[in-house]
Amino acid sequence: MSIVSTLLRARDAEGGHNVAFGLIAVALAAAVFYVDTYTDIEGAIAVLYVVIMLLAAQATTRVGLFVIAAACAALTLLSYAMTHGDDADLQSTTRLIVALAALFVTTMLLVKTETARLTLLAINSALKESEARYRSIFDRTRVALWERDYSKLRSYLMDVRAQGVTDIKTHARTNPTFVDHCIGLIKVVAANEAAREMLGPESSAVGSLRRSFITGQERFLDVVQAIMDGERVFEDMAEVRADNGEDKLVLLSIAFPEDPAAFNRVVVSMVDITQREMALKALAEAQAELTMASRAATVGAMSASLAHELNQPLGAIVVNSQTLLRWLDRDPPDLAAVRRSAERMIRDSQRASDIIQNTRGLLSPSNNKLESISLDRLIDETMALMEHELQRSGTTVHIERKAHIPPVSAVKIELQQVLINLLTNAIQAMDEARSPQRIIRIATARPDIDHVSIAVRDTGPGITDDVKDKLFAPFFTTKAAGMGMGLSICRTTLEARGGKLDGTNHHDGGAIFEMSLLIKPEVEHA
Ligand code: ADP
Repeated sequence: MSIVSTLLRARDAEGGHNVAFGLIAVALAAAVFYVDTYTDIEGAIAVLYVVIMLLAAQATTRVGLFVIAAACAALTLLSYAMTHGDDADLQSTTRLIVALAALFVTTMLLVKTETARLTLLAINSALKESEARYRSIFDRTRVALWERDYSKLRSYLMDVRAQGVTDIKTHARTNPTFVDHCIGLIKVVAANEAAREMLGPESSAVGSLRRSFITGQERFLDVVQAIMDGERVFEDMAEVRADNGEDKLVLLSIAFPEDPAAFNRVVVSMVDITQREMALKALAEAQAELTMASRAATVGAMSASLAHELNQPLGAIVVNSQTLLRWLDRDPPDLAAVRRSAERMIRDSQRASDIIQNTRGLLSPSNNKLESISLDRLIDETMALMEHELQRSGTTVHIERKAHIPPVSAVKIELQQVLINLLTNAIQAMDEARSPQRIIRIATARPDIDHVSIAVRDTGPGITDDVKDKLFAPFFTTKAAGMGMGLSICRTTLEARGGKLDGTNHHDGGAIFEMSLLIKPEVEHA
């Protein structure tokens, strides 16, 4: 039974058929053998075994074919031996050879056909399997997918191009019905579950593409241009309108096939990025607020120096006004001296007003303009702002200025804020460690053609290993009253303009922070 089942093609539906073919073949073989052996009919009767082979081929496997061919050849030889065993003549021997040759050739051809058939079946089943796999991915994936037929649109666009049109946007402007016509040529072949969930059943329905589906003609014309230019992939952000009228921001991706014949099944995917964009916007807003807050904190830290700075001109004004009164009280009043005192008072008032103006300016968003800044001046102005704090903490500052450092195009308050943060951190580190020698070295340099840098080095305890990796992480602080935002914001601020901020330990001790700046940043506003 097992031999029979190996020889018969194992196909259940055709099982009955195969048995019938098998029985007919056996009966015919018996008939041919009988006629060949026991009748006087002369001729290559054995050639009829070929018919048996042809019948058997319908029901058997390749191995079966060889077995049956061998059986037929054996019967032919047996019949030959029984009838011409003693008196073999040339004619009968030739008939035998013809019959055997016919059997051999037929068997080989049948085996070849069967092999081709099996290969075809295998390819077909692989194709079906891959189609089923694709379908299952298409249906189950959480990415919204459509299959659209762009073939009509493509051939229309090829005609348009043949007429000499290359710029689709200009063409659409002169032909107001062009966009409508193009949309009418696109058919939605299929949409998956995620697509239906994203846009609702109507907007994702199979049929013609809805007009309001992609909002904005320009974006649609970009797709049209991509097809006309023979691009393989189109990717862009687009706004689409769902059934409920809600506009969604999606990442649209269309994979155009290489073969023009395959334009009838183009896969279009959309990823809803509305939420992500909203989150990014909220994040940017929060970051901006935090930067503002930190700027306010910087100004707060400078208020001590501000009070100190204001003290001086205000004190001078008081002294000068008293002197002025004294000159006035003289008899006769010394008007020239009164004038000198009044002029000094005006100068000091102006200075006080400038100081206040400066501080207010630090907080104003309108102060965010790029300007040409000399590093030396930046350092001097920042030192002036920090003077009081440096004095209070008993810190000495050495400035090593490198010659020929070009000015940078930057927002002054941003650089000042970074420098103040680095100086404050250095002072605090040396304070906390009660360093006996408190020295800050500020050095300018030009590491390469596009960059300049300012390094701030202190004589504090340096950065410990467990702090090293978290130094620039937001909210990381080792100070009781620290916020941990200073270095993080400084780095973000510099990177937004193409700069860098790094911190490490100096081999002679203490920490060294280096801010490097692009001389000409491409970004106008961070
Ligand atoms: P905060 O000053 O509020 O702690 P920062 O982001 O400015 O926030 O600094 C983060 C941490 O980095 C500090 O708490 C400190 O541990 C470390 N740090 C910063 N500057 C120095 C320095 N010059 N020397 C040693 N450690 C430093």
